[in-house]
Amino acid sequence: MAQDMTTSADPDAKLLIRNIGLLLSGDIGRPILDADAVVAVGGRITAIGRVSDIDAEGATTVIDAHGCALAPGLIDSHVHPVAGDWTPRQSQLNWIESTLHGGVTTMISAGEVHTPGRPRDVVGLKAMAVFAQRAFTAFRPGGMKIHAGAPVIEPGMEEHDFKELADAGVRLLGEVGLGGVKDGPTARRMVAWARQYGIQSTIHTGGPSIPGSGLIDAGVVLEADTDVIGHVNGGHTALPDREIRCICEGCRRGLELVHNGNERAALFTLRTAREMGQLERVILGTDGPAGSGVQPLGILRMIAMLSSLGDVAPEVAFCFATGNTARMRALDTGLIEAGRAADFVLLDRAQHSAGRDLLECVQLGDLPGVGMVVIDGTPRINRSRNTPPADKVPEVLA
Ligand SMILES: [Zn+2]
Repeated sequence: MAQDMTTSADPDAKLLIRNIGLLLSGDIGRPILDADAVVAVGGRITAIGRVSDIDAEGATTVIDAHGCALAPGLIDSHVHPVAGDWTPRQSQLNWIESTLHGGVTTMISAGEVHTPGRPRDVVGLKAMAVFAQRAFTAFRPGGMKIHAGAPVIEPGMEEHDFKELADAGVRLLGEVGLGGVKDGPTARRMVAWARQYGIQSTIHTGGPSIPGSGLIDAGVVLEADTDVIGHVNGGHTALPDREIRCICEGCRRGLELVHNGNERAALFTLRTAREMGQLERVILGTDGPAGSGVQPLGILRMIAMLSSLGDVAPEVAFCFATGNTARMRALDTGLIEAGRAADFVLLDRAQHSAGRDLLECVQLGDLPGVGMVVIDGTPRINRSRNTPPADKVPEVLA
């Protein structure tokens, strides 16, 4: 997998989570697993099953889930980090750590575009990408995995620039269209160079997000042929329905729906993907912090919105933010299966939700309560400070 993040776990640490009431796998082909326990060694999942059947001997940490649900840690496919846990656009500190309290354990940069004085010359943009990749690998607020270092392409870049970036460890392109390259043919050439050297790409879809950015329509999106169609529901201004349909039908690339976009267009995209039998293409992001700001619960809000208004089973909506993204972006997290990183969110119905259990709560549009977040097999937070309180709350026993 191209983008494994070095595990932060002690290689001898053994984690057992038992009494799981509902195990969400993240796998859209089989979103619920018949199991009540998970074991991880050295930060990686080693066993999933009934607690009586699996090897839980010698666990160094035991978590009693007390009947709550466990899902893979959520993945935000679209953020714009800047420096550390600070964003100048909204003058906020600790927004990444706050997002951990929304159940997110992995974030993917769509470009460090809010950096004050962002360089736009080729040498400068390459240097900044390498810096961001290094800085966010080394700095993980609350343990959050941040895949950053996503250069925004500019005219004048040549094939060797993409090779140099790849050799230096850069694995992502920022949103095509946020820099000077806004035409289909140039974008297509650069995206193909990036792909040739193992660099994934995404594109800004729709109207300008903030003054200074531009319109990217369906023709440019399809010609550029990025791996992910970034915020196909607009960021914020969406394309007309017929163009969104044209994108959905005209390629097999990822269809990214973001919180800071147009909700009606998100539901239209979801409906189109379902009609096509291609829900595995749907992935979720927040696009924070942009003009709409930071959304610590943005991914949970998207899951609840799509499930309640988009007529999607809640366990499937969780796959949009976990397994779908992990597969599309070659991440080693996002699925409950042996060998994957032990990144989990433990959650339950919110207290006083009209829903009787987690799934019904989400289907009714209520946000669930997060009771614990685990990254690389280590509990990072207990009860979330941001979600409504969960009904059933897990507990670390030893
Ligand atoms: Zn954008």
